[in-house]
Amino acid sequence: MIDSVRTEFEFASSPASVPPMTSRTYNIVLLPGDGIGPEVTHQSRRVLNTLHTAGLISLEITEIPCAGSYYIEHGQEWPEGSFERCRAADAIQLGAIGHLDADGKPVRRADGELAGYEQVIGLRTKLELFANMRPIRLFPGVRHSISGSFKEVWRPQDVDLVVFRENTEGAYTPGEFRLERGTDTEFVISPTVITARGAARVAKEAFHLASRRNGAPYDGKRRVTCVDKSNVVRAHRFFREVFRSVAKDFPTIEIDFAYVDAFAHALITKPERYDVVVAPNLPGDIITDLGSALQGGMGMAASGNLGEHHAMFEPIHGSAPDIAGKGIANPVAAIMSTGMMLRWLGERNEDPNALKAATAVDMAITDILQDTDNHPADLGGTSTTANTGNSLLVALNKYLISN
Ligand code: ATP
Repeated sequence: MIDSVRTEFEFASSPASVPPMTSRTYNIVLLPGDGIGPEVTHQSRRVLNTLHTAGLISLEITEIPCAGSYYIEHGQEWPEGSFERCRAADAIQLGAIGHLDADGKPVRRADGELAGYEQVIGLRTKLELFANMRPIRLFPGVRHSISGSFKEVWRPQDVDLVVFRENTEGAYTPGEFRLERGTDTEFVISPTVITARGAARVAKEAFHLASRRNGAPYDGKRRVTCVDKSNVVRAHRFFREVFRSVAKDFPTIEIDFAYVDAFAHALITKPERYDVVVAPNLPGDIITDLGSALQGGMGMAASGNLGEHHAMFEPIHGSAPDIAGKGIANPVAAIMSTGMMLRWLGERNEDPNALKAATAVDMAITDILQDTDNHPADLGGTSTTANTGNSLLVALNKYLISN
């Protein structure tokens, strides 16, 4: 059972129009993390509580304190047994990691890694969350955050693509070889490993999604674009080779290629050309942060780390220590990632209620963003985290009653 306090916006009883609750109870692990992480995941949790209380979906939520703020007090990144709980969960939702110490420096583990490494990189690699899926979509009522653009405001229908970033290899390859130490010829080799299996599985995810979408906004063509630096990085050349061979199984989907530098320009000048994009780890990371500018900023960008058996959902932003504790963080990215989680659960379990819950979250987000009174500071508004969350619950309840 969910243990957090009900708000005045949540249902007292199930509305008549909601389908009967499925017998399945989903076990969700919530990792609030550091900085604005707990502030935004609190709003995600209110959304989940509302859907549960409405009788649409049955959820059991386990909240686990973790990352830098936990490490500074306990000398470890989370309580014993937490990884096992994540592994046993139906899905995981993460807030953000990265805590500053009294000197304003990021808290690090004894091995030098950022405290919170276990929650982000550890879970991605140990649970084989190989595809980082990042929708880049501009909602009606939201302005992109690119200043000086020729197009004053992108039309929402121009910005609707999904990027798949490979999530376990490439830049995450462990190991560092430091040679000829202390000499003026000292050098470091940091390997970038890309395997056929790793590249193929993320490419397949991209093609599968493209076959379910309506194509690029520009021409309605279903298209997967491979973005890499294969003109220079050998491992990326291999990624592209594997991509081409996966593409043969999807003959109805157009394929397209771009070097990441050129793509960075194209993404912000012609986003309407893109439908689904797949990239190795590092280029994928960079282009999705860039893509968030098309959506209005980091507070609007959500992601899912998908594996064959597990998945973890999170906003793409970090812990934002500059605004933590001020109650002004934009919770929309976190709530969007909750919607992605519900959709993933629904598709995986063929559960119409989870799919309906996902649609309800999407509709509520779309609804509230059209009113600038609900826009937090990063979107140029004055709404607090709590008020944006309140409006969202009102919209969610309205949608649930009328559908
Ligand atoms: P990291 O280095 O882990 O990516 P960070 O917290 O240093 O994390 P970002 O998350 O990239 O940096 O965010 C950069 C800035 O964008 C933040 O310092 C903050 O001002 C703003 N920002 C990020 N997320 C939000 C949000 N949800 N709401 C409002 N502003 C945000």
